[in-house]
Amino acid sequence: MTAEVIYGSELAVTLRNEMKEEVEGLRKQGITPKLTVILIGDDPASQSYVKGKQKASDYVGVDSELFKLPSSTSEEELLTRIDQLNKDNSVHGILVQLPLPNHIDEQAIIEAISPEKDVDGFHPINIGRMMTGKDTFYPCTPFGIITMLKSKNIKIDGKKAVVVGRSNIVGKPVGQLLLNENATVIYCHSRTENMRAYTKDADILVVAVGKAHFLSGDDIKEGAVVIDVGVNRLENGTLTGDVEFESAKEKASFITPVPKGVGPMTITMLLHNTIKSAKNFHQIR
Ligand code: NAP
Repeated sequence: MTAEVIYGSELAVTLRNEMKEEVEGLRKQGITPKLTVILIGDDPASQSYVKGKQKASDYVGVDSELFKLPSSTSEEELLTRIDQLNKDNSVHGILVQLPLPNHIDEQAIIEAISPEKDVDGFHPINIGRMMTGKDTFYPCTPFGIITMLKSKNIKIDGKKAVVVGRSNIVGKPVGQLLLNENATVIYCHSRTENMRAYTKDADILVVAVGKAHFLSGDDIKEGAVVIDVGVNRLENGTLTGDVEFESAKEKASFITPVPKGVGPMTITMLLHNTIKSAKNFHQIR
């Protein structure tokens, strides 16, 4: 079997064009969705992610504002800034780019953002809402993955989904969203014994480990749907996923590539959440 490749990059373009139209409509009603990003320090990867978010915001017509703060910024200063943004009715989405410098408590910052403006979907209230099956801001990468599966009409209901990785931003929430869609979910992590017995049995396999070519075609079932979340830079500078694409492609029914797979969907879902927040604020359905 040769898999159909799911290009998140193509779906992202379609969705962003739809959002662009929606935002034009909102602007005509005097509503301009606005995303404020706070970037602390000068980590090159974070700077590049923030740039990508701003560019995509501009494309769909979402106002974007960037606060660049020095790495010496104290936790108190950051909390004050978040408090101001929570109270600012023109701001619909607040995103603090992670990771933060060591002297700042990341969880305290996540919890300081108003759940109504938490477009990253990391606030415990939004995570709780997601766990109880309520409509809320879902974390962007997992939400992008579910959107990709649905775009290809891939059946999730009743299927065995295996998630490798259990981070708060990818592994855990993607498993929860798959469970909400009635999959039977198994989480694997660094302490899992005989992990390949699980990956080889998965109908839907999501890999979010962060190790280049961690799994290959030998580790998956014939006909499986493979979602590769990993982004790893090889010594020659190229980006690659956690799954060895060529061998896995020969066994899977669907597979996402790296790059052009999950990555472009993450920013797209961030824009979706920001527009949703603006509509919530103005009580538009
Ligand atoms: P993370 O916080 O480092 O988590 C990695 C997970 O992999 C952990 O749960 C860890 O298990 C597990 N793991 C590590 N070694 C393992 C092993 N030998 N066997 C089984 N599990 C193992 O990473 P993350 O933030 O979830 O990100 C994962 C990857 O996705 C990274 O490459 C990241 O760059 C990428 N990513 C991409 C996007 C996107 O938009 N495309 C977004 C976010 C992340 P333990 O919990 O037991 O340590």
